[in-house]
Amino acid sequence: MKTLEVKCGNVTIGGGHPVVVQTMCNTHTDDVEATFRQCVRMAEAGAEIIRITVPGPREVPAIAEVRERLRSEGIDAPIVADIHFSSATAIAVAPVVDKVRINPGNFHRDHGQARQEFARLLEVCKEHGTAIRIGLNHGSLGTYITEKYGNTPFAMAKAAMEWVEMCIDADFMQTVVSLKASNTSVMVEAYRLLAGMMQERGVVFPMHVGVTEAGNGDSGRIKSCVGISSLLSEGLGDTVRVSLTEDPVNEIPVGRYLSDRYGGRTASSMVRLGLNGRTAVAEYHAPSREKLLLDASCDFGKRLLDKELDEVTFTGTFLQDGKEVSVEESGFGAYLSDELMQAARRRFYKPEYIACPGCGRTMYDLQGAFEEVKRRTSHLHDVVIAVMGCIVNGPGEMADADWGYVGEGNHKVSIYHGKEPVLRHVPDTEAVDRLLELIEGR
Ligand code: SF4
Repeated sequence: MKTLEVKCGNVTIGGGHPVVVQTMCNTHTDDVEATFRQCVRMAEAGAEIIRITVPGPREVPAIAEVRERLRSEGIDAPIVADIHFSSATAIAVAPVVDKVRINPGNFHRDHGQARQEFARLLEVCKEHGTAIRIGLNHGSLGTYITEKYGNTPFAMAKAAMEWVEMCIDADFMQTVVSLKASNTSVMVEAYRLLAGMMQERGVVFPMHVGVTEAGNGDSGRIKSCVGISSLLSEGLGDTVRVSLTEDPVNEIPVGRYLSDRYGGRTASSMVRLGLNGRTAVAEYHAPSREKLLLDASCDFGKRLLDKELDEVTFTGTFLQDGKEVSVEESGFGAYLSDELMQAARRRFYKPEYIACPGCGRTMYDLQGAFEEVKRRTSHLHDVVIAVMGCIVNGPGEMADADWGYVGEGNHKVSIYHGKEPVLRHVPDTEAVDRLLELIEGR
């Protein structure tokens, strides 16, 4: 879909340019040295845009200093400030960064006031040549919109269109939009609806696409590829972030793969496809396990999500440590099929995990806690468990979760049932036991 072009520092998003790969720091922003070093690693790994959280005015000088240090080292990746609630912080940071990511609906409880604060931000961004991203997530739509349309993909697209209209009215065209969800089917539908609404309006801003809180490892990569590839294959999406609960540098090869694949710069290793009704048998000869996993997720994610297919079986080989491994005999084919079916929400063979990637707001060992929660709960079925990095935004963001494990910092955890906290200040050494007791007691 042809969109307007948005200039974010020296990078152009949209307008037919290749899909831009971005990532986000998980350091504490006021630790300038650690944030700077992580940005250097990201840039070296190929990140084209880097986002850094700015929880409040205190971090504004810190992000400015990180950006200056990167420039003095010859690293010119655009820097994006991630703002959650505070319009004052967004306005303060806009002059010193390349783009500001906001969810304007969260600026104020009073919707009219939120609109006024967003209008002021647009003025400041226009004055300084700063782009914005209207970044709405499924889990954090305001009640002003969910009361009207439910917590639905349509509500997400309608909410985004209100802010899009304000940008158009203010003649502010340096706007990117995102509508992320951890549920791939909600996420894909929301972006499709938004694309249709913008086309109908006659002003199409570029879209930043991603599956939020995708988790880690194979599951996080497969889920991200299913959601993002469904859109990129339809020509929707101009910049991507693959959110993983890992070192954020690991996100970049997956994002690069997606950009290259839908930019025609790399091809699938699938050599044969047999169809029997809505069942597919796919043969691959892949140069690595990782390539096979990404290829298969992109080859079949959309077809499973859109119910064009009901099942996929994998055959063929991949190379590992220089040796050819049989996809079927190694069990990798069956595992990949299970993972893909779950990522496309067609069949659930293990709990559904939602885990944020962490950011400068994370106050505990999120990656370690997520691994422990997965290890201790993998035997459960029909349950959605969220592991979130902060108590401020985590509970609001874990949209579909039945249970939430939310780190408070100081080795304490809050446990949520849906959006309600049921236990607070649980020592982290006991928190998974308490979570299991609660789940199994229901
Ligand atoms: S929920 Fe996770 S990613 Fe979101 S603000 Fe909190 S720590 Fe950061």
